[in-house]
Amino acid sequence: MNFYDWLHWAEDRHAFWCNHLDAHFSGVASTTPEQRYSRGQPLLEFSNQATKRAGLYDPRRHTCVYQIPYLFMVEARYDETIAHEVCHAYQRALYPKSTWHGEFFLYLLQEVCGFTDAKTTHSDYRPAVLKALRLSYQIHAASHLPPRTDWLILD
Ligand SMILES: [Zn+2]
Repeated sequence: MNFYDWLHWAEDRHAFWCNHLDAHFSGVASTTPEQRYSRGQPLLEFSNQATKRAGLYDPRRHTCVYQIPYLFMVEARYDETIAHEVCHAYQRALYPKSTWHGEFFLYLLQEVCGFTDAKTTHSDYRPAVLKALRLSYQIHAASHLPPRTDWLILD
């Protein structure tokens, strides 16, 4: 798959996990449809930043932000990150006071989405990506471009 195929793939997977969680909770009697869907499905945004985070959910904008460098490096393994961020959006909608990476969040990711071994970080592939980013930093430094010190954080 090329550059654009992976972006479309990520969009499809984002929609898939949103629909999956919607379907799972459609029969939950303890929450009203207004509570569950007041904000609708989370939006999606791609970012090109070389941050420590592979992805994030921004509750203020109800948006999942996916970091392109990670997607391109880990490809299909990025699916867990997409599910992870979508779970944060549903966690907020369904149980706003739950702990960010707490029991309810892990229930969504591990039981509902089926990532049974999922942890709350993406440390399995993060070091490899950060190593590549550090190399990129060194190339920038060698060419006397302004250093990106935020790329130097390695775990
Ligand atoms: Zn998280």
